[in-house]
Amino acid sequence: MERNWLAQSIIDTCLEMNASGLNQGTSGNVSTRYRDGMLITPSGIPYVKLTTEMIVYVDGNGIPEPGKTPSTEWLFHLACYRARPELNAVIHTHAVNSTAVAIMNHAIPAIHYMVAVTGCDHIPCIPYDTFGTKELAESVFLGIKESKSLLMQHHGMLVMEINLEKALWLAGETETLAELYLKIGGLHYDPPVLATDEMNRVIEKFKNYGLKTEK
Ligand SMILES: [Zn+2]
Repeated sequence: MERNWLAQSIIDTCLEMNASGLNQGTSGNVSTRYRDGMLITPSGIPYVKLTTEMIVYVDGNGIPEPGKTPSTEWLFHLACYRARPELNAVIHTHAVNSTAVAIMNHAIPAIHYMVAVTGCDHIPCIPYDTFGTKELAESVFLGIKESKSLLMQHHGMLVMEINLEKALWLAGETETLAELYLKIGGLHYDPPVLATDEMNRVIEKFKNYGLKTEK
């Protein structure tokens, strides 16, 4: 797809993320697969000031185009594209409810059938490591292979989907599930969960269902 169109989609996604309360300031970052690498938000520029020229191309070897600095968290974005060749967009945010659950190092179990939109019967929480490190990227790589939505201990959340529109939708669903988990007191006791065979049935159904965004 055309670079300019993808870059504008990244900016639109960032703005929607902040408008919907999924993110604050510049703490989140957004990317989409492009050529052998990705297009990603730059480091430290407020979303409202972003222009398509500021979006950074990072190639498959992790080399950014000259004169531009990608988000400090670019390494785990690239790890996602290596882990899931069939998916094309990544959103990472420090959304409040998801981050609250992640701080407590809880996975979100099958409290609601919508957990199955991740392709997994729970939303895993990957271990903490310093942002920008290879170790964190390795944990993201392993986690995203298991589930399209991840909590990141003491950090935030990350989702991956076939395009940015679906990724934004999945980020919203993840945040809602985290909010539900907190509301039912999931941090303090084991809540009732759906049976594994039911979750497997719903995971199958979701393979043919979801937000219809294909253009
Ligand atoms: Zn972050």
